[in-house]
Amino acid sequence: MAERADELATLEQEVSACPLCDLSRTRKRAVPGEGPVDAEVMFIGEGPGSNEDQQGRPFVGPAGRLLNELLASIGLARDQVYITNVVKCRPPNNRDPMPQEIAACAPYLERQLALIKPKVVVTLGRYSMAKFFPGASITKIHGQPKRIGATFYFPMFHPAAALRQESYMAAVKADMLKIPALIEEARKVTVTDAPAPAEGQEDAPVQLGLFDV
Ligand code: URA
Ligand code: SF4
Repeated sequence: MAERADELATLEQEVSACPLCDLSRTRKRAVPGEGPVDAEVMFIGEGPGSNEDQQGRPFVGPAGRLLNELLASIGLARDQVYITNVVKCRPPNNRDPMPQEIAACAPYLERQLALIKPKVVVTLGRYSMAKFFPGASITKIHGQPKRIGATFYFPMFHPAAALRQESYMAAVKADMLKIPALIEEARKVTVTDAPAPAEGQEDAPVQLGLFDV
C-alpha cells in the first residue's frame, strides 16, 4: 500500500511535467487526478476546464461542485474516491479532446487503473464511456453497469451536461443513487469467481438483478 501510494504520487508528478502531446503547450497546469490509492470507486471525466487548469486539480469548477453534491447524496466524501480525466491537460477553449491526444494520454489512465484497481469505475460523459463501452450511445446505456472480471463499469452523463440540460440532471441524480448497491455487489466478487468474460460477451450488460423495478 505504501509502495502503491508512492507509485501513484510518482505517476502524478510525471503527468504534471508531461510533454507528450500538444496540450502540454497550452495548459497552465496538468491535472493528474486525486484521491487515495486504495479508493474503491474511480470517476473518470473528459478533461480539465479552466478552473482545473488553473488549480491543477480535477473537478473544482461548477461541474465539480455538482459532483461533490452527487457524492454526498450517497454518503461518499470526495477524498474517499479517485477522480481523474481521459486527458490530463485542458484542451484550448474547452474543445473536445482529439484522438491523438486521447491516445497519447491513455497510458496514464491505464497505470492509474492498474495501481488503484477500483472495484467500480464510473465514466462521466462520452469520451470516458467510449474507452470501456466502445460504440455505445450514452443515452441508451447510462446507468447500466457492466462487469468485466472483478470490476464494474458504470456509465453516467457528464455533470457539465446535467448543468446545461435539466433532463440530464434527473438522470445523473438517479444513476448516482445506484452506485452504493454496485459497490456492495463488487465487494462480494472475488477474483476466483470472476473469470474473464468469454470472447464476444464483453459488451453484455451485467444482469445484477439489483435495479429491477
Ligand atoms: N470536466 C471534466 O471532464 N473534468 C474536470 O476535471 C472538470 C470538468
Ligand atoms: Fe501529456 Fe496527457 Fe497532458 Fe498530453 S494531455 S501533455 S499526454 S498529460
